[in-house]
Amino acid sequence: MSASIPQLTEAGWISDPAAAAVLDALEAAGGAGCVRFVGGCVRNAIMGRPVADIDLATVLEPDAVTAALEAAGLKAVPTGVDHGTVTAVSGGRGFEITTLRRDVETDGRRAVVAFSRDWTEDAARRDFTLNALYADRTGQVFDPTGEGLAAARAGRIVFVGDAERRIREDHLRILRYFRFLAHYGRGDPDASALAACEAHASSLANLPAERIQKELLSLLSAPDPRSSVRLMAATGVLSRILPSAGDLSRLEGCCEVEVLDGTAPDPVLRLGALLPEAPGDVAREAERLRLSGAHRDRLVAAAGREPRLTSWMSTRQTRRALHLLGAAVVQDRLRMAWARAPHGPAARDWKTHLALSRSWTPRTLGLSGADVLAAGAPPGPRVGEILRELETWWMDEDFPEDPDVVREGLAAVLRGLGA
Ligand code: ATP
Ligand code: MG
Repeated sequence: MSASIPQLTEAGWISDPAAAAVLDALEAAGGAGCVRFVGGCVRNAIMGRPVADIDLATVLEPDAVTAALEAAGLKAVPTGVDHGTVTAVSGGRGFEITTLRRDVETDGRRAVVAFSRDWTEDAARRDFTLNALYADRTGQVFDPTGEGLAAARAGRIVFVGDAERRIREDHLRILRYFRFLAHYGRGDPDASALAACEAHASSLANLPAERIQKELLSLLSAPDPRSSVRLMAATGVLSRILPSAGDLSRLEGCCEVEVLDGTAPDPVLRLGALLPEAPGDVAREAERLRLSGAHRDRLVAAAGREPRLTSWMSTRQTRRALHLLGAAVVQDRLRMAWARAPHGPAARDWKTHLALSRSWTPRTLGLSGADVLAAGAPPGPRVGEILRELETWWMDEDFPEDPDVVREGLAAVLRGLGA
């Protein structure tokens, strides 16, 4: 055991009323101490990071957990009963409650589990020592592996037990390793963990694409995922999950640009920076990774090349692009283009275009088919053609808003088309 076991007195989530209601419900059935906080919340509290969601571990078996929650008037959702997980809904939030367990049989993708009442056994089936930390409701921390606290304090991501064996049990742990490394790692990475990830990189081919992309996006949401991704490339893990990933310079540039531009980490665009550049290839990769439709469309649009955006384009051209593509697409394309040379001489220009894209309000032409007819055009398919032509004129004129000017434009278009 570590010399100083901390007391998490300052952690607000420990006394969070919604969590307390869940603990009360379980302790009413299983007695004091039958449930503990576990995993991310304890780890983050020790590392001084914000706590997002709360996971709980208990000696009660899933049926008893469900009964205890329902007796207390809380909703119980059977999210993974085979693996001992029930989600309690309290205060409108979900709390994952997992029965202490050991893995009896594993094939790299699925595990057959046996429930247990032994906290040390439960810690032994968890992935990394810093994730095998528990705390009771008084804030008393428990570190059954004896190594989790020191690992959390030092930012060391170390497998519980033998790294190779743990990866053979569950291949997803390779990606979890690089995710936790990106978010919490400090100093030199654990050599045996890296060697085990490298040795088993080929097993990633067996994982469902959904799991891979979820892990990847979670990894890429770390403030600075670059060194972790570099290690993924060096160990052959990256090419297994993203065979088309080229060199990492676009990702590096993309992260740099976020800093220079003062924007939050953008995991989706960062993923785009790892994909090939041609829109068709991006679409194919997005399908293969089973990205959501929204993410796929965003990345395909970000890879588009028309109209071409350059650092030296005029503000008028920028506004034209904004009108044609919308601010979100233009911003993605500008950032991707800037990412090629974040500190290059064009950095100021990219920044100016981005600023313009943020202050831009969409413009509308304000004329319809009825106005075209009123101006003397014959009814029929030509009306649409005239409106398209008018819109081109309007963009070329930099979006005049004065209705008289637009009407003059319409007259000019009608003359030009001989309508
Ligand atoms: P986050 O803050 O990202 O939610 P977390 O540590 O809570 O981090 P989860 O994926 O929510 O991560 O998992 C909760 C806990 O369950 C982990 O801390 C770990 O102890 C255990 N765990 C989750 N997935 C695995 C796995 N594949 N193998 C072993 N243990 C796992
Ligand atoms: Mg969690």
